[in-house]
Amino acid sequence: MSLFSAVEMAPRDPILGLTEAFNADTRPTKVNLGVGVYYNEEGRIPLLRAVEEAEKARIAAHAPRGYLPIEGIGAYDQAVQKLLFGNDSALLADGRVVTAQALGGTGALKVGADFLKRLLPDALVAISDPSWENHRALFESAGFRVQSYRYYDAASHGLNRAGMLEDIKALPARSIVLLHACCHNPTGVDLSGDDWKQVLEAIREGGHVPFLDIAYQGFGDGIEEDAAAVRLFAESGLQFFVSSSFSKSFSLYGERVGALSIVTASKDEAARVLSQVKRVIRTNYSNPPTHGASVVASVLNSPELRALWEAELAEMRGRIQSMRQAMVEQLAAQGAKRDFAFVAQQRGMFSYSGLSAEQVERLRSEFGIYAVATGRICVAALNQRNLSSVTQAIAQVL
Ligand code: PMP
Repeated sequence: MSLFSAVEMAPRDPILGLTEAFNADTRPTKVNLGVGVYYNEEGRIPLLRAVEEAEKARIAAHAPRGYLPIEGIGAYDQAVQKLLFGNDSALLADGRVVTAQALGGTGALKVGADFLKRLLPDALVAISDPSWENHRALFESAGFRVQSYRYYDAASHGLNRAGMLEDIKALPARSIVLLHACCHNPTGVDLSGDDWKQVLEAIREGGHVPFLDIAYQGFGDGIEEDAAAVRLFAESGLQFFVSSSFSKSFSLYGERVGALSIVTASKDEAARVLSQVKRVIRTNYSNPPTHGASVVASVLNSPELRALWEAELAEMRGRIQSMRQAMVEQLAAQGAKRDFAFVAQQRGMFSYSGLSAEQVERLRSEFGIYAVATGRICVAALNQRNLSSVTQAIAQVL
C-alpha cells in the first residue's frame, strides 16, 4: 500500500479556482474582479519606477548573495519601523520595537503566530467576520482555536460597531485579537478614529493581545493616515504585534516582502523577544531572501526614490478612489435598483458589493465577469475600458 493512499484531496482555494475559470473563459469581454492585486489603467500589475531604479542600481553594484541575518536587512527593518510607527516615535527611540523581515505579510503572521503559541499556548484567537480567508487557517495551523467577532453589517454595508465591541468584551481574558489596521479585506469597511479608541479600551480591559495586520498601507487615505491605528496602539502602553507587507504598496507580490514588528515594554524585553523570534525563523526557513527587501530599503532610504514611490503610491490610491466614485455614478446612471454610495466610502482594493452568490453567478455565466461568491469585488481591477460593461452587467443582475 502506498504511503499516500489515504491522503485526501484538499479543498481548492476558492479565489485561485476563480482565476483558473477566468483564464479558461474565451470571451474577449471577460473581466476578473476576483483577484487580490492592484491592476493599473492598462489592466496590468505595475512595475513601479522607484522599484525599477533601485533594481538597476542593485544589478550594477553586483551585490553578492550571501545569507542575510535571521531577522533580515537592518536598514529594511528600521525603514519598516519608521513607516509604521512614525519618524518621531518614542517607542523607537526607546528601542522597544522588534522588527524582523518576513516572507510577505503572510510570513509575518505565521512567525508571529508561532511565537505567540509558545507564549500563550491556550489563547483563543479572534478574527473579524468576515476576514481574509488565510487568517483563520494560519492561526489554526499554528495550533490555536480561532473564532470570529462580528464586524460587517450587511444592512448598512458598514461596521457592526456594537457587535464588534460586545464580542471583543466577551472574549476570555488574554485572547489574541487580530485587527485589520486599514483597508479591510474583504469588505473595504474600516473603523473610524473613535471606533479604534473604543476597540483599544475593550482590548485593554480584557487584557487581550492586539495583532494588527496592515497589508495595504498607503492604499486607503495615505501612508501616515493609514497607520493611525498602529500609532494609537503605540501610544496606549500595550504590548502588541504588527504584520506588514509591501506586496501591494510596492507592487512586489512575488518577491515576498513583509515584516513582523512586536512592541515590548522595554529595550531589555525587546532583546529577549527578538532572540525568540529569531529562533522561530531559524527553524522555519533560516533567513529571508535578499532581493525584495533590499529594493524596498533602497527606495525608502533614498530621498529621491522615496519621493517617486510616494507619488506612484498616491497615483494607485487615487485611481482606486476614482474607480470607486465612477462605479457609484455609472451604476446610478444605468438605473441600478440600489444605492451603491457605500462603495465610495469603503477603502482599499476591495468592496463587499452586496451582490448575492446568485447574482455573482449570473455575472459570470451571462457576462464573463468574475467576482467572489461572497460579493467581494476588487475595485483595483476596474479601469476606464471595463467600467461601463461591468456596471451595466451589475445593473442587469440586480
Ligand atoms: N493580510 C491581509 C489582510 C491580506 O489581504 C493579505 C494579502 N492579500 C496579506 C495579509 C498577506 O499579504 P502577502 O501577500 O504580503 O503575504
